[in-house]
Amino acid sequence: MNKSANTSEKTALRAVKGMNDILPPESARWEWFEEKVRALMARYGYANVRTPIVEPTALFVRGLGEVTDIVEKEMYSFEDAMNGDKLTLRPEATAGIVRAMIEHNTLYNGPMRVWSQVALFRHERPQKGRYRQFHQIDVEALGYAGPDVDAEQILMCRTLLRDLGLSDQDLRLELNSLGQPAERMAHRAALIAHFEAHAALLDEDAQRRLHTNPLRILDTKNPAMQAVVNAAPQLMSFLGEASLAHLNAVRAVLDAVGLIYTLNPRLVRGMDYYNLTVFEWITDKLGAQGTVCGGGRYDGLFEQLGGKPTPAVGWGMGVERMLLLLEAVGVATAGNAPDVYAVVPQASAVPLAAANCEAIRQAGLKVQMHGAGAESWGSMKSQFKRADASGARFAVIYGEDELASGQVTIKNLRDANAEQRRVVLGDLPATLRELLNA
Ligand code: ATP
Ligand code: MG
Repeated sequence: MNKSANTSEKTALRAVKGMNDILPPESARWEWFEEKVRALMARYGYANVRTPIVEPTALFVRGLGEVTDIVEKEMYSFEDAMNGDKLTLRPEATAGIVRAMIEHNTLYNGPMRVWSQVALFRHERPQKGRYRQFHQIDVEALGYAGPDVDAEQILMCRTLLRDLGLSDQDLRLELNSLGQPAERMAHRAALIAHFEAHAALLDEDAQRRLHTNPLRILDTKNPAMQAVVNAAPQLMSFLGEASLAHLNAVRAVLDAVGLIYTLNPRLVRGMDYYNLTVFEWITDKLGAQGTVCGGGRYDGLFEQLGGKPTPAVGWGMGVERMLLLLEAVGVATAGNAPDVYAVVPQASAVPLAAANCEAIRQAGLKVQMHGAGAESWGSMKSQFKRADASGARFAVIYGEDELASGQVTIKNLRDANAEQRRVVLGDLPATLRELLNA
């Protein structure tokens, strides 16, 4: 081994750029969020699915469209060193779920509502709210054609936002219809004509996409192109009766529940597979990374991936962005501090203390028992320091003297004036529960 390899072996390794560790206390906020999500899915009848993180590259190229940001420049693709298979870390959730449904013929008995929590990978420029590994809550209704399900998905998103403690002022809903392929073709021709007439105003990306995927030009984030994009013909005026009826049926449900939204004819979304309804939930509180949730209908995707024609609709919510928003708005998320910290002055009392802590846990309380540090078991002082840091409300002290008479002491860690109490070991679970509920 040469010298430089030897030194590098000893330098601390770091996480890959744009990929984050989620550690305490931040991880408690994630768990809090995830519990709200699980409860939501149960209330709306969505079943959990989990598909692999790695998929064949072809799945995303066929599923998302070759001329999309994701497929053109954001995918982590590699060859399996063992057999040369072309693989990709999933950049989005829907294609993998649809693949699984086709592969296992899961919709054989009828349509299905599913959800998943996924880690996704995109090679983007990392910044606040934009990472190379990020997470989504993903919701899909598979085999449903009606606008009622589009509306249901928008409503469940609003319910989640409310459950999380956000108000309708914190986010706005934008809605659009992308119509059907034939309508988009007619619009596409008009769009190409418009952009050709203003070719000098197009940036390099737009020039390249003009004849491959002009609709995507509307999604540009280049400020210099906003004027020419604003003047472009709108898809809305190319929609036929059926598409308009679908959109109006979605709107009728939103209106019935009093959900305010904006029709945004420029909303096109980042993947090619969408048709009819598309929507985004956007906040002004996170700067450029303001879209926290996006979704829509993708009736053509099953066929595109080799399955039977199957209508479907879904959304994806960025977990990091949601948590950033909750922080920006000042929503307090519950931590998961223990109820009780077990202080054990003498290590010789560990077996008895450990057995008693098990009994308290059996009673449903959260107990953290003292453990040795790197150097020693720890003095009373250092044990109480850790008890404080744990966030526990009570300490139970398993002192030698008390234990000799079958008792322990309970100390209130959050109220210095509260009296310490001696309790017989067997009464501890009930007494603690009483104190915690008081
Ligand atoms: P953007 O326009 O911000 O790049 P997108 O259209 O690429 O978003 P989708 O593919 O629709 O996003 O993903 C849905 C949600 O996932 C987004 O609304 C956002 O909350 C989140 N998201 C997307 N990309 C990232 C990322 N790189 N880092 C963190 N969250 C992301
Ligand atoms: Mg993107």
